[in-house]
Amino acid sequence: MTAFVLPVPPTPSVAIAGSGERFAVRRIFCVGRNYAAHAREFGNDERDPPFFFTKPADAVVDSGTEIPYPPLTESLHFEIELVVAIGTSGFRISRDKALDHVWGYGVGIDLTRRDLQDAAKKAARPWDWSKAFDRSAPCGPLIAARKSGHPAKGRIWLAVDGAVKQDADLAELIWPVADIVSICSEAVELQPGDLIFTGTPAGVGAVKPGETISGGVDGIGTIEITIGQSKS
Ligand code: MN
Repeated sequence: MTAFVLPVPPTPSVAIAGSGERFAVRRIFCVGRNYAAHAREFGNDERDPPFFFTKPADAVVDSGTEIPYPPLTESLHFEIELVVAIGTSGFRISRDKALDHVWGYGVGIDLTRRDLQDAAKKAARPWDWSKAFDRSAPCGPLIAARKSGHPAKGRIWLAVDGAVKQDADLAELIWPVADIVSICSEAVELQPGDLIFTGTPAGVGAVKPGETISGGVDGIGTIEITIGQSKS
């Protein structure tokens, strides 16, 4: 038995709908852009191949949580996303086998310090400080694919204090789930516990302390978080 000098950190995890069990999170991969309209609103060519960035596993927080407004930003943006939970390992997974590696699905919010991202883009610097901060990956309860099926279409939406800001359909994904899993697995060997945030549709925007973000994907689930004051 290995002895550690400090207590072993808790295992990050997300809830499972209708169950007391939880899904242990190993890594978080995120697709940079995957809906044509959102790619266009940032001036990008929607035919570009997908690219990925990451968040730390312990950036996950449950639906129903109040998230303190993060430091270093005055432009905290929401991005509603379908989340894919990987159940079995695979390297260079073919598209036709990709869905066999998916344990289930959830609804996540890729919180983004947009001002830091804009500065990073201009300076050709990494995105980490804009994307990979504490509590930057809220994720609602997962549903097992054996219950939900593998969604190819369905409304994906987000509202701030009840006002709808993002409203699209999974059918608009430039690269559907099977493509994303397959392409991601060309770069890394996917493992059980990996989450993939699959990109956000158009309509992203900023939130302020005190506002509540809600969202969902038809047939998959919902999420709701509140933005609190900055930690002092
Ligand atoms: Mn995103």
